[in-house]
Amino acid sequence: MNDTPHLSNLAAIDAAHHIHPFSDMKELNAKGTRIITRAEGVYIYDQTGKKYLDGFAGLWCVNVGYGRREIAEAAFRQMQELPYYNAFFGTTTEPTTLLAQKIASHAGPHMNRVFFTNSGSEATDTWFRMARVYWKALGKGTKTQVIARKNGYHGSTVAGASLGGMKSMHEQGSLPIEGVHHIGQPYWYADGGDLSRDEFGLKMARELNDKIDELGEENVAAFVAEPIQGAGGVIVPPDTYWPEIARICKARNILLVSDEVICGFGRLGSWFGYQHFGVEPDLAPIAKGLSSGYLPIGGVLVSDRVADVLLNEVGDFNHGFTYSGHPVAAAAALANLAIIEGEKLVERVRDDIGPYFAARWKSLEDHEMVGEAQCVGLIGGLQITADKATRRRFEKPDAIGAAVRNYCLEHGLVMRATGDRMLASPALTISRPEVDEMIGTLEAALDHLRDTTPR
Ligand SMILES: *Cc1c(COP(=O)(O)O)cnc(C)c1O
Repeated sequence: MNDTPHLSNLAAIDAAHHIHPFSDMKELNAKGTRIITRAEGVYIYDQTGKKYLDGFAGLWCVNVGYGRREIAEAAFRQMQELPYYNAFFGTTTEPTTLLAQKIASHAGPHMNRVFFTNSGSEATDTWFRMARVYWKALGKGTKTQVIARKNGYHGSTVAGASLGGMKSMHEQGSLPIEGVHHIGQPYWYADGGDLSRDEFGLKMARELNDKIDELGEENVAAFVAEPIQGAGGVIVPPDTYWPEIARICKARNILLVSDEVICGFGRLGSWFGYQHFGVEPDLAPIAKGLSSGYLPIGGVLVSDRVADVLLNEVGDFNHGFTYSGHPVAAAAALANLAIIEGEKLVERVRDDIGPYFAARWKSLEDHEMVGEAQCVGLIGGLQITADKATRRRFEKPDAIGAAVRNYCLEHGLVMRATGDRMLASPALTISRPEVDEMIGTLEAALDHLRDTTPR
């Protein structure tokens, strides 16, 4: 695995000193970590020189692809000019302010302000506090409870992991914290039973109404969801789901928070996921595609409804990070958004490569191991099944997804698996032949699974 002395040494150093996120370190160190050495376009290369098509855009984030000099140069210029200054004491920097304006220009008429963070997790902590501060300022200090969804993902800080609905995360660190509640996810394939997709979408949305009844409307601050659940398995909700969620939030007077960390910045063929689903959230955390991962930066979009109170009634909002709106990260993000605008990548996903990807992705539904192939824009979830007719699932879903993922990896394609769902989220710049390559390898992996797995 380690074919150069320098890099084999690096793997040993890594095993001795580096604790990886979301990893079983004992297992990883026994196996040896892969070292990614360079990348270009949609391809990454490891220490052996092996090339992989990155079907996942890093971690849902490298929207403009690898190797964009414009972003590197913007960061370099900004670092020479002014590497750091903060926004705490009545100051700002040019890229920070221009970035807020640029983001707002795409967010819709009701959404005009941004609070900057360094990550999606910090964005989650930020809106979580903001929502409570908002209600308190309005004299409704009892509205503190927040409703989220099973299997949602909102980051790894204490608030993020609490709001997320991952059991494996709640089990570590005594989570969720007080004041966080979860309702079901609109996962028709697993939970829909005999209901039609549309009936099931309404049923799951109405769990929100029931939960508000249970907690008391006077106690509920907000509901948060990803437009399409990402880490939970790219669960595309039925068409009936989002309109009903938006209706309930309005009728019950609770804030709607759309977690745009994956769906923002073109992934669904719209600037933000809420635009694809035609809803207007009150708060929206962003990160990932904001800088295409070239530097860490995130934030919260703040609607006029919330901003009017936060800016006029609260006084100091006692919250912020040393690097909120970091000028170098902001300069990189501005260069990234200039690429998305200049190359019309949002339109490309909506009208060109997205429909092409959809046709190819949907064709996988003909495979006998595939229960459903869902996608919107350039995000896809592929449900593996043990029996198409009855929607029966394999007894050990994690092993099934891992088998497909590992086959793909061996054959030069990076895919991610959540249980028995395969997830795709390639760069928005991916070409048609590259989509074909991705689908071809995935098909071969599914054939391999069919031929090697007893059902
Ligand atoms: C990745 C992610 C986050 C957390 O972002 P980090 O930058 O990893 O802290 C939050 N929400 C969603 C939907 C995500 O996918």
